[in-house]
Amino acid sequence: MKQYNFYAGPSILNDEVIKSALAAIDKKDGLSLLELSHRGPEIQNLFQETKDLVKELMQLEDRYEVLFLHGGARLQNCMIPYNICTKESANYIDTGIWAKNSIEESGIIRETKILSSSAKDNYSYIPKDFEWDGNGYLHITSNNTVHGSQFHDFSFCKKGKVVADMSSDLLSRDINFNDFGMIYAGLQKNLGTAGGTLVILDKSLLEDLPQVPSMLNYKQHVKADSMLNTPPVFAVIMCNIALKWIAKQGGLAALEAINKTKSDILYNEIDNNPLLSGFVKTEDRSLMNATFAINDLSFKNNFDTYLEEKGIVGIDGHRSKGGYRVSMYNMLPLSHVEYFVDCIQNFKG
Ligand code: PMP
Repeated sequence: MKQYNFYAGPSILNDEVIKSALAAIDKKDGLSLLELSHRGPEIQNLFQETKDLVKELMQLEDRYEVLFLHGGARLQNCMIPYNICTKESANYIDTGIWAKNSIEESGIIRETKILSSSAKDNYSYIPKDFEWDGNGYLHITSNNTVHGSQFHDFSFCKKGKVVADMSSDLLSRDINFNDFGMIYAGLQKNLGTAGGTLVILDKSLLEDLPQVPSMLNYKQHVKADSMLNTPPVFAVIMCNIALKWIAKQGGLAALEAINKTKSDILYNEIDNNPLLSGFVKTEDRSLMNATFAINDLSFKNNFDTYLEEKGIVGIDGHRSKGGYRVSMYNMLPLSHVEYFVDCIQNFKG
């Protein structure tokens, strides 16, 4: 039976991308890219081309470095307080589980300020009332994968250096990336597979930090051009293919339009279906992850079995939250959202 994949990450990869990936790792003249030294021209070219694609799609100014590192977004949560604005303040907005993880990592090594939090309201909105004097850095999580909320206004970037965890929405919409001091994302949602992390960093943030171990030190990674150790080659191959696919769709503005259409269709159904209620305040809803509950729990077992029979996978809410979460990353076709909505409209209880 056909499966409709709505997992939150790792997540859907379309057939075209999978096909290109198989071709990319296939043996040519007896050798696969995965067997080659990262010091050789093939892998060096792969990294350079992938960085150039990132810069081009994001229209990044020359002051940014682009890195591909190991360790996922969580390692970035830990590296940031060691490296960024070390003589100034570390400021955070608490919008969910991943933001909280960043705050905790920072709290281990330096004084960490939480400027605002929506924790008391189950992270059902994005705080907008916070004051930041522009000192140090401000860390935000642009899309809250677990809760289904998303920042839609970045006007605070004008005040100072903003560091954004964009793990679940990078390259899904057209924003001015040059407004940020640093952006990072695990690659497993919109940009291919797990195993690699994309880090984009304004060079002016790089400090000489001899007391910070080299693998945790951005300046060392920049100096080694992402090759301080053996880099995550397969994840970068996948990212390269995903970026080319994004370019082929017409770039970020075109993708954003499709992503908006997908989420509008789903939220419209959530708002109009008496069986369902959305978790997040309308204006802060995520284009990537829609979260909702079933109003009458006596229908839950039948609802779950019915959707399973329809081939729908990956819609359970995060283990900390319950309910449902439908993830609509770049590679999820509009037709899959339409199919899902059609299924829930035809659910007879
Ligand atoms: N930040 C966000 C917003 C996430 O969604 C995730 C993973 N779901 C993480 C951080 C952690 O990412 P990783 O597993 O790559 O460390």
